[in-house]
Amino acid sequence: MSNKHSQKSKSGADSWADETLAIRGGFERSQYGEHSEPIMATSSYVYGSAAEAAARFSGETSGPIYSRFTNPTVQIFEHRLAALEGGEACIGAASGMAATATLLLGTLRQGDEIVATRNMFGSTVNLFKNFLPRYGITVHWADGLDVESWVPLVTSKTKLLYVETPTNPLTELADIRAFADLAHAHGAVLAVDNCFCTPALQKPLALGADIVVHSATKYLDGQGRCVGGAVVGSQELIDTLTSFMRSAGPCMSPFNAWVFIKGLETLNLRMQQHCANAAELAVFLESHPAIRHVYYPGLDSHPSAELAKRQQKLPGGILSMEVDGDKAAAWRLIDAVKLCSITGNLGDARTTITHPATTTHGRMTAEDRSLAGIGDGLIRLAVGLEDLDDIRNDLEQALDKV
Ligand SMILES: *Cc1c(COP(=O)(O)O)cnc(C)c1O
Repeated sequence: MSNKHSQKSKSGADSWADETLAIRGGFERSQYGEHSEPIMATSSYVYGSAAEAAARFSGETSGPIYSRFTNPTVQIFEHRLAALEGGEACIGAASGMAATATLLLGTLRQGDEIVATRNMFGSTVNLFKNFLPRYGITVHWADGLDVESWVPLVTSKTKLLYVETPTNPLTELADIRAFADLAHAHGAVLAVDNCFCTPALQKPLALGADIVVHSATKYLDGQGRCVGGAVVGSQELIDTLTSFMRSAGPCMSPFNAWVFIKGLETLNLRMQQHCANAAELAVFLESHPAIRHVYYPGLDSHPSAELAKRQQKLPGGILSMEVDGDKAAAWRLIDAVKLCSITGNLGDARTTITHPATTTHGRMTAEDRSLAGIGDGLIRLAVGLEDLDDIRNDLEQALDKV
């Protein structure tokens, strides 16, 4: 495939640390010597002759053909993210959901089975539940906290285990190494949605996973501007997905790729500050009388606090809280905030607050929501980079109104 030229040997990137890869990885200057990565806004590419065009299309020679499946700006993002995740290759997609759909539809076939964490992002659950069965793919659901409960569900038909850790919105963790061992014992592969942690906090491939899925929309962008996604894995997998992308078309735009490239440059610093702010707010909220429970992997009260220390560099920037009351109480708190933004996005420099049961997880059935533990009093807070006291004061005055 044309998007696989290696840039490592020339630049010395083989020995670079993550902080350097995030800023300089995957990029070689053009003949103009530009310092910042260019946006290659072109749908197609020109050849010197009919023979050259034919050779490019057949794969005999490498190089870009059409931006539905390769674009130089998107490739910089792909190389950079692959390097940060420690994967061989990466493919960008139009959204996080497009990345997941590309992985599933590009690799699975009728009769295959997958096992997935019950408590995942709402659209992921809807895709798995409402669409995969139409194509003859069976999905089994299980609890990410309990790897033993997955054992009877994994058979010779199982091609993929799919986990999200920590989960949205309850921050439940799955033990990546244990799930990788289970998958591999049955000839299946493990895919991990690394959206909440990003490679700055968690490296699923180093823990044994085979595939990482990203919503670049969140922390990779980091400022709530663009929708995008990516899959990282072996060169063989990404070649398969590139060929699916060529036919199906859910590709990343070069402009969005450029925003994500720039986002990656500050990812590590941003994640540290998101986590520092979230950790302080989690302690504050846990001791507040209007809050019944706080879900945050950095709290001792979190059931997977030990695993979080082992598996993640830091506990993350997202927490959820159960207000002492029902939906009306949760909505009162949300309606009273002045600084925090009422929006479903997360991973933004701005703190965002949302009521999962009626927004991000509103399309799930009430029964599924209840099984997943997403109650009417639950509020998700994606802690931003504003001054900690300003965020805390905003929540404090809002909590007075619950
Ligand atoms: C947002 C999100 C997705 C989907 O990503 P989009 O870019 O919105 O399509 C997938 N997984 C998790 C955990 C998310 O938060």
